[in-house]
Amino acid sequence: MKRLTILGATGSIGQSTLDIVALHPDRYRIYALTANASDREMERLCRRFNPAFAVMRNDDSAHKLQQAIADLSTEVLSGEAGLTAVAAAAEVDIVVAAIVGSVGLMPTLAAVRAGKRVLLANKESLVMAGALFMDEVRRHNAELLPVDSEHNAIFQCLPAGSIGSGIAGKGVRKIVLTGSGGPFRDLDLEAFDDVTPEQACAHPNWDMGPKISVDSATMMNKGLELIEACWLFDVDHHDVEILLHRQSIIHSMVSYNDGSVIAQLGNPDMRTPIANALAWPERIESGVEPLNLLQVSQLDFTLADDLRYPCLALARQAWQQGGDSMAVLNAANEVAVANFLDRKIRFTEIPGLINEVMERTSTGSAADLAAILDADASARRLASELVKARV
Ligand code: NDP
Ligand code: MG
Repeated sequence: MKRLTILGATGSIGQSTLDIVALHPDRYRIYALTANASDREMERLCRRFNPAFAVMRNDDSAHKLQQAIADLSTEVLSGEAGLTAVAAAAEVDIVVAAIVGSVGLMPTLAAVRAGKRVLLANKESLVMAGALFMDEVRRHNAELLPVDSEHNAIFQCLPAGSIGSGIAGKGVRKIVLTGSGGPFRDLDLEAFDDVTPEQACAHPNWDMGPKISVDSATMMNKGLELIEACWLFDVDHHDVEILLHRQSIIHSMVSYNDGSVIAQLGNPDMRTPIANALAWPERIESGVEPLNLLQVSQLDFTLADDLRYPCLALARQAWQQGGDSMAVLNAANEVAVANFLDRKIRFTEIPGLINEVMERTSTGSAADLAAILDADASARRLASELVKARV
């Protein structure tokens, strides 16, 4: 019996994880669930999964939850201290890192430092603090497993032991990171100025939280994933080719020197990579429909167009600059996306805002956590000021 903490249990990845847990009561038990402010949803989950702990980052929501579940044995905690406590607790075997954004960094690092099996969905933590994060994984002997569908696919296509160990000597020619191109892949470039948050969040193939949905529409998501792949597999950006694949059936590939290309295929459903990482090296039922290739019938591939997706180049540039540039990129993107979702800036203003923050923030090293959090905070401040100046 493995005991789980799910950081971000009320979100899209959290719920998919709980669907799998519900299929395997003999294998998994919930130790702790966390959220920010969705106390109603958390109450429902506590009644269903009866965790030892429920953590609400927001204090008011923690108070409400405490009152709502006074009849349960679940203990309610709050704040970042609560999140890190349940991520590092000795009773926990597996931590699912599914908080959205840079707020996921500290609790995810706490799980890494406690040497847990960490299922990483929260790509922002790896993007902003990759070097330090991977060092901590090595130092504390944590077992890092990617949940992001592309990285989980690459993990499945590379030889065993591929996390953090590079591709030298493995006969790998390159890693092929696939992406659907998002909801605006066929939209006229002139129409981009008027797209709404609702349109940006209506992804053609995946059902995800609002932030990553907007990232998919700008393809900053693929940019963040490029950086995520570089850190996870210890490769350079030249080793990773990005291909648009509109059906989202191939989730990524590895091309080998002997001419073999190994791909991982499946229906676009996050329960597959989550189940893979939960049970690895075993394979368990995930509830996902088997792939019907006759129904899919066709797989298309094209290159990503720089004009349509300027965020991709910004992410590549941040990786090349190194140091804390990726924390700056990530923070500026989070602020830009939040303001687009709040209808304060247009969709087409997102890349310009990130670019301006990157240009105006003097970048330094990402030697320690303080430097990274500093870069994150100042990029966030500048991005918010720039938004205010525009409105
Ligand atoms: P959602 O927006 O659906 O869920 C986010 C979760 O994080 C919720 O539980 C939310 O709680 C919690 N949360 C939000 N803000 C805070 C905060 N300030 N402090 C503590 N907890 C907080 O996101 P997704 O599930 O879509 O994405 C989660 C992560 O997984 C992201 O990093 C994303 O990039 C990654 N990912 C997601 C995929 C997907 O298919 N959804 C695919 C690949 C990666 P509350 O409900 O209270 O707000
Ligand atoms: Mg992905």
